[in-house]
Amino acid sequence: MAYLTLRGINKIYPNGFHAVHDFNLEINKGEFIVFVGSSGCGKSTTLRMIAGLENISKGDFLIDGERANEKGPRERGVAMVFQSYALYPHMTVYDNLAFGLTLQGVDDDVIDKRVTSVAKILGLSDYLERLPRELSGGQRQRVAVGRAIIRKVNIFLMDEPLSNLDAKQRVTMRSEITQIHRQTGATTIYVTHDQTEAMTMADRIVVMKAGYVQQVGTPFDLYFNPVNMFVAGFIGEPPMNFVESRVENGVLDIANNPIDLRKFADKSVTDEYEGKEVVFGFRPEAVKLADEDEGGKESIPADSFKMTGKVELVELLGDNTNIYIDIFDANVILKVDPHVSPKLDTGFEFYIPYESVYLFDKQTEKRIKLSE
Ligand code: ADP
Repeated sequence: MAYLTLRGINKIYPNGFHAVHDFNLEINKGEFIVFVGSSGCGKSTTLRMIAGLENISKGDFLIDGERANEKGPRERGVAMVFQSYALYPHMTVYDNLAFGLTLQGVDDDVIDKRVTSVAKILGLSDYLERLPRELSGGQRQRVAVGRAIIRKVNIFLMDEPLSNLDAKQRVTMRSEITQIHRQTGATTIYVTHDQTEAMTMADRIVVMKAGYVQQVGTPFDLYFNPVNMFVAGFIGEPPMNFVESRVENGVLDIANNPIDLRKFADKSVTDEYEGKEVVFGFRPEAVKLADEDEGGKESIPADSFKMTGKVELVELLGDNTNIYIDIFDANVILKVDPHVSPKLDTGFEFYIPYESVYLFDKQTEKRIKLSE
């Protein structure tokens, strides 16, 4: 049985705004779930309904099979970390960590043990006597996380906890939070607009758009099997390339770059979409380039389509290079080896493996499954 159940959850704010529509999800004990989507899509609202900070307009929320809609935050056994760390500025790190337990009337020696252990997990042992203003942003955020985990709750909720940190601190805290999750085993729901955080931290990701869940799946699922253009474009950096096209005689009619779907798509698919508008997609990192073998002979990647276009921009990023290509009908980005450095305004050839071709219905934006 699922540990947390969200069944047909809706949020309609008092001003009539319908922020979350029919949210359904079953969360297993100990899972790390990430809600991801652009700003305003309803992630925080859903999290706050789970926390008991916002009432649920319609639907059922169950903890361990028991309805919890009417329970307050304390009864639900949740701890929450917010974007702003909200530490007590006049209290030391020790007292900030201990505060919640002191309020609960926990014995001093128990508090001392818990503070020591949490400080150790978070690498704060040497900072216990400092005030928040004497800490770096990353250390402050760690104290905020510490205040939540010290309570030994079963459900841990985090709302954009890393957004006030700089890029380097974010990467460090990302792995620290994952490790803390492993150590505490608390069921965790984490909200972010950052797809990299979602991909690197989650057991399962919930992608949201405008109040609706688009897809729930493992990072692998979302990357390789997105259900629609939104998910395909949201997960992955740079995002998936999209080129509008039409199926004619089973071939995608992209100027100078025809793609013969019959080579790998089921006949039922090419028949169904014959004459229709579709969107062709491929990931920047899926492209392959022709290679020269030792004899100087060009070797062409097998089972792939050749495409040609004009080089518009080359961005060397260190571990890879992004090449912006104009393929006449559209602009696409290729993510290639940093040693590849084509000249601007020259022609460029690349190959897309059959297995890396995605197709979407232009009308519904849903993914078209190419073969059974
Ligand atoms: P996210 O966390 O994905 O950025 P939110 O859950 O904060 O999004 O907000 C979802 C939508 O609900 C937004 O359009 C926001 O403006 C709206 N919203 C949030 N809080 C309220 C409120 N108290 N009253 C009315 N609308 C709200």
